[in-house]
Amino acid sequence: MAIFDKALDGMVALVTGGSRGIGRASCVALARRGATVIVNYVSREDAARETAGLIEQAGGKAALSAFDVSDGPAVKEGIKRIGVDHGGLHILVNNAGVALNGLLLRFKDDDWKRTLDVNLTGAFQCSRAAAGLLLKARERGRIINMSSVVGEMGNAGQVAYAAAKAGMIGLTRAMARELAPRGVTVNAIAPGYIETDMTAESLPEAARAKLMENIPLGRIGQPGEIGDMVAFLCGPEAAYVTGQVLRVNGGMLM
Ligand code: NAP
Repeated sequence: MAIFDKALDGMVALVTGGSRGIGRASCVALARRGATVIVNYVSREDAARETAGLIEQAGGKAALSAFDVSDGPAVKEGIKRIGVDHGGLHILVNNAGVALNGLLLRFKDDDWKRTLDVNLTGAFQCSRAAAGLLLKARERGRIINMSSVVGEMGNAGQVAYAAAKAGMIGLTRAMARELAPRGVTVNAIAPGYIETDMTAESLPEAARAKLMENIPLGRIGQPGEIGDMVAFLCGPEAAYVTGQVLRVNGGMLM
């Protein structure tokens, strides 16, 4: 399904957490459509540089921008700099995320706070900092929030993660209503289980086998399958799609 036209030529996209996994695949998919892609990361400069190489191979221009999405002043400064260096910003993909897991009874305050800070507050802070630039982009302006199937279904052992991802859906719909009068669209993607470092860390082999029973298509998804949805939502063909949650989950939730 990869889209190879150059409909995003001349557009500037920021992908938070673009250094690895779904964020990296989103960067590459946007680059294939001609966008200049800014790869945000927090700690893995090596991985961010690799993504930049893949963006260039795919025909796009790349730049790096390191900041922690949960650090308000750093977000503001980082996004302001992108606007100055690249002459604007058309697309924001709020993809940076962490999954700190544990059962409710023993779940630690710090883990709750960190999960909400990165996944939900991070998306809010980046959107707020980018809103002025996106409004200037008018009908080409796009925000994509990376939610999760878990935000809609819940999952034992993921109270904070599920709450944060559900919160991102509310954030998506409120921002979609606010920004619609200027033509800027805001949508969420709710991936099912996708093969990345995050799932490798949190999904032991036994749990993986059990999970397959609940995925009608019978397999874990690939990062590129989410990247393709990002590229679709950012293109002109999705101009009339806003406030939606696009489920890409192998049928896990219908
Ligand atoms: P991943 O492989 O663990 O990659 C996480 C990315 O987020 C990395 O690029 C990391 O940067 C970045 N990051 C983490 N904390 C950050 C912070 N505070 N500030 C800026 N960047 C930060 O994860 P993934 O599986 O690709 O997940 C990407 C998104 O999709 C997340 O929001 C996740 O919740 C969501 N999601 C994933 C799945 C799945 O099955 N994998 C399913 C549904 C939703 P560094 O490289 O610098 O560490």
